Amino acid sequence: MSAPNAHPDANTPADAARPRNFIEQLIDADAASGRWGVWPKSEGPDRAGKPRVHTRFPPEPNGYLHVGHAKSICLNFGLARANAGKFNLRFDDTNPAKEEREYVESIKRDVAWLASAFNAGSFDSGPHAGGLFFASDYFDKMYDHAVDLVNKGKAYVCQLTADEVSARRGKPGVPATSPHRDRPPSESLKLLDEMRRGLHPDGSMTLRARIDLASNNFNLRDPVMYRILHQHHHNTADKWCIYPMYDWAHGIEDSLEGITHSICTLEFEDHRPLYDWFIKSINEGRSPPVWHSQQIEFAKLAPSYTILSKRNLLRLVQEKFVTGWDDPRMPTIAGMRRRGYTAESIRNFCDDIGVTKTDSLIDIGRLEASLREHLNRVTPRAMAVLDPIKVVVENWPEGKTDQLDFVINPEDPAAGTRKVPFTRELWIERDDFMEVPPKKFFRLFPGGEVRLRWAYFLKCERVVKDADGNITELRCTIDPDTRGGDAPPGPDGKPSRKVKGTIHWVSAAHAMPAEVRLFDRLFSAEEPGKRTGNFIDDLNHDSKRTVRAFVEPWLANAAATRGGALVSGTGPDGAPPTGGGFQFERLGYFCTDPDSAPDPRRLVFNRTVTLKDTWAREAAKA
Ligand code: ATP
Ligand code: MG
Repeated sequence: MSAPNAHPDANTPADAARPRNFIEQLIDADAASGRWGVWPKSEGPDRAGKPRVHTRFPPEPNGYLHVGHAKSICLNFGLARANAGKFNLRFDDTNPAKEEREYVESIKRDVAWLASAFNAGSFDSGPHAGGLFFASDYFDKMYDHAVDLVNKGKAYVCQLTADEVSARRGKPGVPATSPHRDRPPSESLKLLDEMRRGLHPDGSMTLRARIDLASNNFNLRDPVMYRILHQHHHNTADKWCIYPMYDWAHGIEDSLEGITHSICTLEFEDHRPLYDWFIKSINEGRSPPVWHSQQIEFAKLAPSYTILSKRNLLRLVQEKFVTGWDDPRMPTIAGMRRRGYTAESIRNFCDDIGVTKTDSLIDIGRLEASLREHLNRVTPRAMAVLDPIKVVVENWPEGKTDQLDFVINPEDPAAGTRKVPFTRELWIERDDFMEVPPKKFFRLFPGGEVRLRWAYFLKCERVVKDADGNITELRCTIDPDTRGGDAPPGPDGKPSRKVKGTIHWVSAAHAMPAEVRLFDRLFSAEEPGKRTGNFIDDLNHDSKRTVRAFVEPWLANAAATRGGALVSGTGPDGAPPTGGGFQFERLGYFCTDPDSAPDPRRLVFNRTVTLKDTWAREAAKA
């Protein structure tokens, strides 16, 4: 049962129990006051008559999306879904210098993938599809509004250079100055038209809003609306050589799309008066008025041990500290997906951290915990040996194979069991054996006994070494009465004999070689760059290690036929999960990497996350 104040979109019991955040409260209040009106009949029975809630995610296509954007997507899509509303994906492509088609395509892919965690469609399909938009499609309308503002005496062409503008910026209590703010509208109109027609070089003039050169909010000291940029644009090609500034463009974009709640991050709080001033100025004397959305600010996601800004991530890519935007160590959505993150785990994390009005560092361990929690529920178990040492079972006949039952996922009985082959020669993990064990070493040692997972008790009889004294194989025996992993019951009905340790193994005759990539955090400092001002100084140079492993044959087939997709568990509302891979017993969660190839067979696995938070353990020790 959900708590009485549960929000209708509750994802997890914890989510259902939490108080409604300040944005949800605002939406409730708007619904109660009828602020945005209701959806018309044409919207169909699920939406018609309900209070309008229309959100958007407005990325600039100047890089790949990162986990901070994921928070914004989950927030905006989640609000649309919870309120039977709509969600738009809009490219804020107003700066041609840094924008590329590749980014547009990757962003579409990433938003759709994350939205799939809601099992309610996306921006372009399903019940909340508001559509796909490009701010650059609005350039004509923005220009018309700019002309209107000039005519109203609310904007003027200023011929100061950028340097001159900053030199005249003033200080708190000391107003800024511009020699051009009282130029007659007719003159500004003529110059604006010349700017648009390409008659003036970059940087020679700007269109500025005529607001208040003495304002204590510097954003209101006659901000620039248009600048000259002779640049090719990915959408409008060479049609424009003046481009609108964010503050001028954004409110118009929201207005044209009928956005109700325009959610952005905290650093725009001081821009809100400007956002409102622009729309109010457009509406002065206009009937009917244009739509005036409400800007709402929330605290950015800033996870520990991570950098997020696209600009910084681009540097990691360009300077080849990573293999690309989708390097599994990157905090990009593409990187996280390749690493084996599920969209659900990211959504659950966003629900868990909530929405606030104060900036704070979020422990990256919480994201990893959310990932573990989901993968534990949905991943099939498998066995792989990352650092193999050979075991020869001396009392097992050559050529004999036993097919043992292996539980696919103890968390999900419906997933059932599958067969795992057992033979005379096995691989086990090198560090599961010690020739001279310390006290409380419950794994294998000469004369000691362990349980082979789902198989038999195994006793080490003898160690074989090469001329240099390196161990080459372990000669062992199994107890045939322990098939399945337990000793037969004694007179009291309980197992007659117990062993403490259980280790994983792979039949050598069946094992498939695989490359396994072990990842760690990309940065070793909690706040990369804080110490020296350069985040590169805090790179963890051991963030990637590659080992040659042996995996059981089922994994090879599962990887090839399912591409690492899940065979167990479900996502929200019964939908298939959005990714994931496998749990390698005792080692962690892994997924197949796109570098895997079926022909010739080449298996590559990524370690998604370890079973336990080793960083927390290290921190506790320190
Ligand atoms: P970056 O500096 O990383 O490129 P940005 O804010 O410039 O970030 P945009 O493409 O302009 O990136 O952002 C699209 C949306 O994502 C905006 O609404 C922005 O507020 C939101 N967003 C960006 N970074 C974060 C973050 N760390 N946490 C939450 N939301 C974010
Ligand atoms: Mg940006």
